[in-house]
Amino acid sequence: MAEPGMSQPGMSQPGMSQPGMSQPGMSQTGMSQTGMSQPGIVVIGAGPAGIRAAARLAEAGLCPVLIEEGERDGGQIYRRQPPNFSRPPEALYGAEAAKATALHRDFEALRERIDYRPGTLAWAIRDQAVLTVRGARTESLPFRALIIAAGATDRIMPVPGWTLPGVYSLGGAQIALKAQACAIGARPVFMGTGPLLYLVAWQYAKAGVAVQAVLDTTPFATRLAALRDLAARPSVLLRGMRYVLALRRRGIRLATGITPVAVEGEGGIVALRWRDKAGAEQRSECDAVGLGYGLRSETQLADLAKCRFAYDPVARQWLPELDEDGRSSVAGVYLAGDGAMVRGADAAELAGRLAACAALADLGQPPPATEIADLRRALRPMNRFRRGLEAGFPWPAQLAAGLPDETIVCRCEAITAGELRRAATDLDAPEVNRAKAFSRVGMGRCQGRMCGLAGAEIFAAARGVPIEEAGRLRGAAPVKPLPMIEEPGP
Ligand SMILES: Cc1cc2nc3c(=O)[nH]c(=O)nc-3n(C[C@H](O)[C@H](O)[C@H](O)COP(=O)(O)OP(=O)(O)OC[C@H]3O[C@@H](n4cnc5c(N)ncnc54)[C@H](O)[C@@H]3O)c2cc1C
Repeated sequence: MAEPGMSQPGMSQPGMSQPGMSQPGMSQTGMSQTGMSQPGIVVIGAGPAGIRAAARLAEAGLCPVLIEEGERDGGQIYRRQPPNFSRPPEALYGAEAAKATALHRDFEALRERIDYRPGTLAWAIRDQAVLTVRGARTESLPFRALIIAAGATDRIMPVPGWTLPGVYSLGGAQIALKAQACAIGARPVFMGTGPLLYLVAWQYAKAGVAVQAVLDTTPFATRLAALRDLAARPSVLLRGMRYVLALRRRGIRLATGITPVAVEGEGGIVALRWRDKAGAEQRSECDAVGLGYGLRSETQLADLAKCRFAYDPVARQWLPELDEDGRSSVAGVYLAGDGAMVRGADAAELAGRLAACAALADLGQPPPATEIADLRRALRPMNRFRRGLEAGFPWPAQLAAGLPDETIVCRCEAITAGELRRAATDLDAPEVNRAKAFSRVGMGRCQGRMCGLAGAEIFAAARGVPIEEAGRLRGAAPVKPLPMIEEPGP
């Protein structure tokens, strides 16, 4: 009898594990028929990293459980469209069409050999088990090895008016276009920094949307200074430059070194106010705003698994401590892809495979040493490129100090910058978790996933301490909202 993650070569035959079904002999609660839980191998996230990790485990004859919150595989960049949409890969993925097609094809070949569970949220990790929910059905999956490949989300810096209807994150704007063929507006402005800023603006322009302006908080000189590291991946760098040129050729207003002032609107968006690099206030009329400042790793599950974190000055974020292959400080827990550090999709595929190799080695099935060496070597230029991205499109931490007191920071709980500053100064909260307790910032539905980084910057600026001294919001279950259901019993 095969159990998740424990099948031997020849045992994980096609048809043995169906999506959403447990292995023979296992009930839907992850318990064997004898009532004994069976620790297996669990991978969270069916993006590039998770798929490559699961594939490598399957190559070794194992049958991992692959948990994916979305209904389809592919992750963010290779997101699949709903079944009734039929745009060709070239239209959907552009220059990445071949990679997207390869990943989707490999996944189709893999899915019958693993225990794939789409539409399933991993909402907590407790006592060496992943707690999942699909619809109203909860399950506890004990694991011997866990690979977390949960990806990233937009990094948001609030601006007055950012919670008005019609303001989207850049990622949200892209998902609307990619997955649903919908635009966030007919005349949007895109603002922020990062490669996604220019990519999304170009995708909208190409789709026929009248993009009004692309406003980048990074000064041009800062970008130039990062070129050496960005050149570690010349083809990606050139592609980015082509997007900028294409936007310019269409006559779209591009500005660098800007300072956001406010989104104007009541009911609908009417304009975005900003200051140009010379400090003069400008007003771009628009009916929607897409904003984002790079990406932040989804690290709450690693936190719940009790992984040790360290402050990463490159990303200006707290990230799980990992060895070169993705091992965390907790035995049997590995991280891969953007959820470990944001290096992009190609690196995510390599890191997923490498984390699986690390898990196999620790489980007593060591992969060939050359495979591990090759993967490590292939990842090195990606590490340099990552440094280039963070330096060339820096998170505009300096904006936090200047945010007006009445600006909403935590949109779930409607907490303003002023309330957070009061928690930091008048109430003397020594670090962000205390400020959360005093002000409720980061205590709502998103658990600080949207406001946590900006909140920490506002807190640090208010107390006049370096950001690393502000601490980090501790993760709490559930990592995302759950339906009103009972937790599974012991
Ligand atoms: C919104 C967005 C848009 C992007 N667009 C582009 C682009 O156009 N071009 C580009 O080059 N790069 C883009 N990137 C970056 C690129 O998507 C990533 O570098 C790449 O997808 C990383 O792969 P990954 O496997 O690490 O993570 P992802 O592709 O993000 O996959 C992670 C998967 O984990 C699942 N997951 C997360 N948490 C849970 C949970 N608790 N339970 C169950 N499942 C979970 C998610 O649903 C997702 O499918 C984008 C990133 C984001 C966030």
